[in-house]
Amino acid sequence: DVLEMDGYESLESIGSGSFGLIRKVRRRADGKILARKEIDYRKMTTKEKEQLVAEVNILKDLKHPNIVQFLERVIDREHCFIYILMEYCEGGDLAAVIKRHRESSTPIPEEFVWNIMVQLIMALHECHHGTTTNEETHQVTPRPILHRDLKPDNVFLDGKHNVKLGDFGLSRSLTNPQKAFAQTYVGTPFYMSPELIGEFTYDAKSDIWSLGCVIYELCALQPPFLADTQAQLSARIKEGRVQSLPGNYTQELNQIVKWMLQVNSRKRPTTKELLNDSQIKKVQRGLE
Ligand code: ADP
Ligand code: MG
Repeated sequence: DVLEMDGYESLESIGSGSFGLIRKVRRRADGKILARKEIDYRKMTTKEKEQLVAEVNILKDLKHPNIVQFLERVIDREHCFIYILMEYCEGGDLAAVIKRHRESSTPIPEEFVWNIMVQLIMALHECHHGTTTNEETHQVTPRPILHRDLKPDNVFLDGKHNVKLGDFGLSRSLTNPQKAFAQTYVGTPFYMSPELIGEFTYDAKSDIWSLGCVIYELCALQPPFLADTQAQLSARIKEGRVQSLPGNYTQELNQIVKWMLQVNSRKRPTTKELLNDSQIKKVQRGLE
């Protein structure tokens, strides 16, 4: 039961999300391939619908080469579907890259890891420190956004190894600075920062922790903290002892990953501090 939508030709499904399918579509006007999130809103609670509206509003505001570009939202009232049209990332997600390398026991080249890291830092920088400009008054206001679910499955690649941060389903826009600590955490425990265990607070530094976990996993091909039970995992994360990266990776990379994986969130770098690091600047210049 492929859903048809004016102006778009349905192609194969490319993933299944928590709310429905992600499908490849072709825009008839110009033949461009896009990704479409198909959400059946009949099964959604009021809270979920509110969350979806919030996600779409966040995406609309975010324009950055390393963030999946939102294009359009279409509501099909007849079939109770909401479609979110976005840029298609043909390179799949980082979870698949990690899986491929784990299964073939081949390390991910360090240069690739740096490129991914720097692009993710730039994407997070746009989220954490980006601004919006009012079209009429031209007034510039900060609009910090937290991703809250940074993990390999939510980092996509386009056809040219460009990184695109996606899946802003759990993101929160912190328009109210008093609410700088965003509500309850609902993401994947492997990447959960120590301050979240028991306290349920989340700030930009928690995204930095998750970034450290993702970069660690690209190198070690497994997350930095592993355990059989949730309680054991929580204990390991709070203790914060991380093994060094495999021997083929440099000290410089080890140091940056350890910096992001500080149990004390104040000791973790901001995206600004990361972008000021000389090694990161060098990689950034190479990407231009
Ligand atoms: P969920 O909130 O359910 O995790 P995601 O947005 O993460 O939904 O999408 C699920 C999967 O679908 C992703 O892990 C990815 O493999 C694929 N996917 C999602 N969006 C795109 C896209 N724009 N381009 C290519 N693949 C995508
Ligand atoms: Mg996801």
